[in-house]
Amino acid sequence: MYLKMLKLRLLNAIAPAYFLTATTVTFALQFYFFIPAIFENPDARINSSTLLHGAAFLFLILNALGNYVMTIRFPAASVQDAGPLLCSPLCTDRVDAHYLLNGRHFCKLCKKVILRRDHHCFFTGNCIGNRNMRYFIMFCVYTSTTCLYCLVLGVAYLTVEYSISFENPLTFLTLLPLSVGYFFLGAVPGLQFFVVLMLYVWLGIGLTCAGFCCQQILLVARGQTWCQLRKGQVVQTRGPWRSNLSDVFGRQWVLGLILPVQTVGRLQDHAADKKDS
Ligand SMILES: [Zn+2]
Repeated sequence: MYLKMLKLRLLNAIAPAYFLTATTVTFALQFYFFIPAIFENPDARINSSTLLHGAAFLFLILNALGNYVMTIRFPAASVQDAGPLLCSPLCTDRVDAHYLLNGRHFCKLCKKVILRRDHHCFFTGNCIGNRNMRYFIMFCVYTSTTCLYCLVLGVAYLTVEYSISFENPLTFLTLLPLSVGYFFLGAVPGLQFFVVLMLYVWLGIGLTCAGFCCQQILLVARGQTWCQLRKGQVVQTRGPWRSNLSDVFGRQWVLGLILPVQTVGRLQDHAADKKDS
């Protein structure tokens, strides 16, 4: 148990560092290599394609980072639950959390009581629950879109700069093993090898986030949490899917789709807490 907890704590420290490093690398690759090389036009000083793609990329990555910050800024921790905590009879003393009597959870990594806990996200180092679920979902949406956008530009960069043709669909399958082999033989430049590696990182993160996001939206629409499903509880749908979604996304949900801003007022937040308790 102690070793498992140590592993989780280590993951909790490494995952945010990995996320921030990958973001910085992605940012540098886009602005220093991909966009200038793909859309370079020697005849025009200011190129409209460069501006357009630069703006699109900034919009995506700033939304991903903004929602990342909001997920951490509005934690799902309960401010009311101080003092001794009573475990529910269902509590099996999991490695990461205790199930409490009032349907709440005590996260051993956050060391806090969490309202409507869904899961502990290692990339943000925080629990996802009632208050930050909407930011977390938008974080997944924008991270996935940013990664898939980078994947497309990365493929275009390899074609323009290194004349690698992706016409044959099998190219993507053989690219990594061939690049590794040729890199160690000294036939492939370091930058090309690094971009190839990043293509697979973006593909992996992009698909994982997209899948995760679909699952979370389905759970939110049914008014359920991942924690409840994992516990094997017979969970009933909390209400109509529209009201479940508006509980999480707020009335100004359209604004939340395009900007990482608070879309639910404090009063609504407070009411949601009372409903959960
Ligand atoms: Zn936690």
